[in-house]
Amino acid sequence: MKRFKIAIVGAGPAGYFAAQALQNLADEQTAYSIDMIERLPTPWGLVRSGVAPDHPKIKTVSKVFEKIASTEGFRLFANVELGSDLTIEQLKERYDAVVIATGSARGKKLGIPGEDLPGSMSAATFVPWYNAHPDFKDESIDLSSETAVVIGAGNVAMDVARMLALEPSELDATDTADHAIDALKKSAIRNVVISARRGPEHAAFTSPELRELPKLEHTNVVMNPEDISAAIDRAGDEIEKDTKSNLDAMTLIAEREPTSHDRTLTFQFLATPIEIKGDGKVEEVIFQRTGGDETFSIKCGLVVTAIGYEAHTLDGIPFEKGKVVNTEGFVEDNLYVVGWAKRGPSGVIGTNKSDAADVMKLLASKLTEPKNSGDVTEIISHNKVVTQMHWEQINAAEVAAGEPLGKPRRKAVSREELLNLGAL
Ligand code: NAP
Repeated sequence: MKRFKIAIVGAGPAGYFAAQALQNLADEQTAYSIDMIERLPTPWGLVRSGVAPDHPKIKTVSKVFEKIASTEGFRLFANVELGSDLTIEQLKERYDAVVIATGSARGKKLGIPGEDLPGSMSAATFVPWYNAHPDFKDESIDLSSETAVVIGAGNVAMDVARMLALEPSELDATDTADHAIDALKKSAIRNVVISARRGPEHAAFTSPELRELPKLEHTNVVMNPEDISAAIDRAGDEIEKDTKSNLDAMTLIAEREPTSHDRTLTFQFLATPIEIKGDGKVEEVIFQRTGGDETFSIKCGLVVTAIGYEAHTLDGIPFEKGKVVNTEGFVEDNLYVVGWAKRGPSGVIGTNKSDAADVMKLLASKLTEPKNSGDVTEIISHNKVVTQMHWEQINAAEVAAGEPLGKPRRKAVSREELLNLGAL
C-alpha cells in the first residue's frame, strides 16, 4: 500500500472538505496521511469566526469536521503559522502535496473619501469581533450613535445588519463573544440602513436569509413596496429562479403590516456611496442615486462595508486579484488550492465540498510514489501546538462553560485563554 502525506494549510470548511475528499479517495492500494495546519489555536474557520451566531444550524457542519478529524491518518497542528513558524517551501519539500485553504479574510474597500475615518470599518473586522476571533477582540466599535449604515447587498451585509438591529438579549443564548453582547446591550443604535448600489433584482442576498427577517421579534424590517414592484417590472418574464425567489421574499417583507418596535432595519436600493464625511469620525454617508445625479446623505456614526473579500497574500505563493493563481486548483509543483483562496469569496459552506473533491481528485491523479521525507513536526520549534487532543479539550471546556448559561458554547477569546483550556 502506498501512503501519501498531504499538508492542508487552513482549518476552515474548504480545508476539512479537502481532507474528507482525500479520505474518500483512499482504497486498498492508497492511503493518505493528512496534517492540517492552522494559524489560530482553534479550527473550523468561518464556521467559528464567520457564521452569524444567531444562525446556529449552519454551525452543525462542525460535526462533520469532527468526524473527518477522528478518521485514521488525520492530525491537527493549530496555533502554527505559515510564514513565522514554517514556510511553504519547507512543506512542499516534506509532503507529497500541499493544499492551501486559507480563505479570503481581507475586506474589499469602497475606495471613496472618508472610508478610513474612525467609525467606518469592514465586515472583515466587525464579524470576527462579534464572533470572538482572538485577533479582533480589542477592536473598539462605536455603537453610540442612533443610526448605522451597512453597505452591500449580500448575505454578509445581512448578517451584520441583523446583528446590529436585533434586540441584543436575543444573543444571550448564542455563542456571540461576551464582549460583543455587552457592547450591543449598551448600543444606542436603533436604525440600521442596509444599502445596495443596484436594485432588488440584483441583490446578492439569498432567499432563505430574506425569509427569516420577518421572524425578528423586536425589529421592524422595512422595504419600500414601490422599490420591489419596480424591480419585478424590470426583471420581466424571463426572470431567473433565484431572482424570483428573492423578489417573492422581498414582496412579503414589503407588504407586511408595519410593526412599531424600537429597532428598525431599512433596506435602501439604487444608492451608490460616494463619500463618508465627519470631523475626526464618521458623521454621515453621501449617496448618489444610482443611474442619476441626485445625491442625499444619511447621518450616522457607524458604517460597515460588506462588499466582498480578498485573500491575504502568503510568501512563496502566487496571488492575483485577491486569489491564489491556479488552474482548477493546481498552483505549481506539488501545490494546490481550494475554497475562497482558489475561486474568490462566493458560495455557501457546502459549495466547498464539491469544489474540494474536484481538486483532490486532480491532486491524487498526479501522485506516483510517496516521497517519505519527513513532516511538520521537524520544523515547528515551539511547544504550543494545538493538536486534535488539545482542541477537543478546548472544545469541551467551551461547551461546558456555555451549558449553565443556555449557550451552545461560551467562547474563550484570547489566545492565552484558549491555550490554557487546552492545558498548553
Ligand atoms: P456577495 O454575496 O458577493 O455580496 C457582495 C455585495 O457587495 C453585492 O451586493 C455587491 O453589489 C456589493 N458591492 C460590491 N462592491 C461594491 C461597491 N464598490 N459598492 C457598493 N456595493 C458593492 O458577498 P458577501 O456578502 O461577502 O458573501 C460572500 C459569500 O458568502 C456569498 O456567497 C454569500 O452567500 C455567502 N454567505 C452565506 C451566508 C448564509 O448562507 N447565511 C452568510 C454569509 C455569507 P453588486 O452586485 O452591485 O456588485
